[in-house]
Amino acid sequence: MNAKVRLYVDQPLGAAQPVALTREQAHYLFGVMRMTVGDAVALFNGTDGEWQSEVVEAGKRRGVLVCRAQSKPQSMPPDLWLLFAPIKKARTDFIVEKAVEMGVRRIVPVQTAFTNSERIRQDRLQAHAIEAAEQCGGVFVPEVAELTKLDRLLDRWEPDRRIAYCDEALAGETGRLHDDPGPWAVLIGPEGGFSDDERTRLRAMDYATPISLGPRILRADTAAVAALTLWQTTLGDWA
Ligand code: SAH
Repeated sequence: MNAKVRLYVDQPLGAAQPVALTREQAHYLFGVMRMTVGDAVALFNGTDGEWQSEVVEAGKRRGVLVCRAQSKPQSMPPDLWLLFAPIKKARTDFIVEKAVEMGVRRIVPVQTAFTNSERIRQDRLQAHAIEAAEQCGGVFVPEVAELTKLDRLLDRWEPDRRIAYCDEALAGETGRLHDDPGPWAVLIGPEGGFSDDERTRLRAMDYATPISLGPRILRADTAAVAALTLWQTTLGDWA
């Protein structure tokens, strides 16, 4: 029996393991999706793979599922982070959703000189990441970090993680991703682009590679999907 609904739960999963639902999850399964005792739900928690479970108690505000069999082993996306400058709300949500679908380990909103927004709702973005993982069949949910200043992030950067720095100044020029294996991050700037100081600093870093995303200037959300596609086809798990 294959479940129609996939749910992320923050609890251990394993053979015969009961899983108590939160109020919101019970409302979703039994109020919105009209599920009842005996129905199947696929569960994942980011560490124990995917489990087929069965509803054993269905209330308005509570419910219990029991894990029956593992349907997918745990797997992780490649060690790729997405660093991006948050833009307008809907487009930022889009970037987080697409990053999860494309397969990243961590999502890091960065504040650059020309970043449009000074605040993000980390909890909302994390909830979007969970929904995207539920929808795309993933068993891993990347952490969405708090907004960090780009300068501070670079100050304490671990040099073994390379940065594919998407530089709009290279539009139409060559700037290719090289195929060094190992941990990477993709960096996407805001609508206003990078400042001269940021460009100078990034270009001087050994572990940052300036890359071009073709002859046209892409919007930040398009650029994020394009860069992750490029990385996944060159170095990632699309091969
Ligand atoms: N306002 C800027 C464009 C910013 S686009 C200008 O007109 O020049 C937003 C971000 O998307 C950029 O900071 C960069 O990271 C990425 N980007 C967009 N088009 C790109 C391209 N052709 N090559 C590399 N990066 C690009």
